[in-house]
Amino acid sequence: MAKETIFSKIIRREILADIIFQDELVTAFRDISPQAPTHILIVPNILIPTANDVVAAHEAALGRIITVAAKIAKDQGIAEDGYRLIMNCNKHGGQEVYHIHLHLLGGRPLGPMLAS
Ligand code: 5GP
Repeated sequence: MAKETIFSKIIRREILADIIFQDELVTAFRDISPQAPTHILIVPNILIPTANDVVAAHEAALGRIITVAAKIAKDQGIAEDGYRLIMNCNKHGGQEVYHIHLHLLGGRPLGPMLAS
């Protein structure tokens, strides 16, 4: 069984986070260490550790994280200028928290996709 991360505690509101959206499938909250003026994480409420663990049964929740990202981008006023959605996977992808999540980054020009 997959090991819970701090994101499960945030989803259950057992520890504090700046939650800006939550429904029965997903939770969105501000990243604790923002890399852009807007940096929000959108996570499924169920624990899926990485993109490698995705199966068809997860499609509703993972589809919802895109829908919610687009809604939040609009609400935050960054949709028209644009933004970046990132999902890291495992060590080479730079994943630090093993509860799958989508980064929504925007509010300034983000430059080339990869720094190195
Ligand atoms: P990853 O590298 O796994 O794709 O991204 C994990 C993200 O989670 C990082 O951007 C990190 O700043 C954020 N993060 C880690 N711990 C916490 C926390 O306790 N609260 C919040 N809001 N963000 C966190």
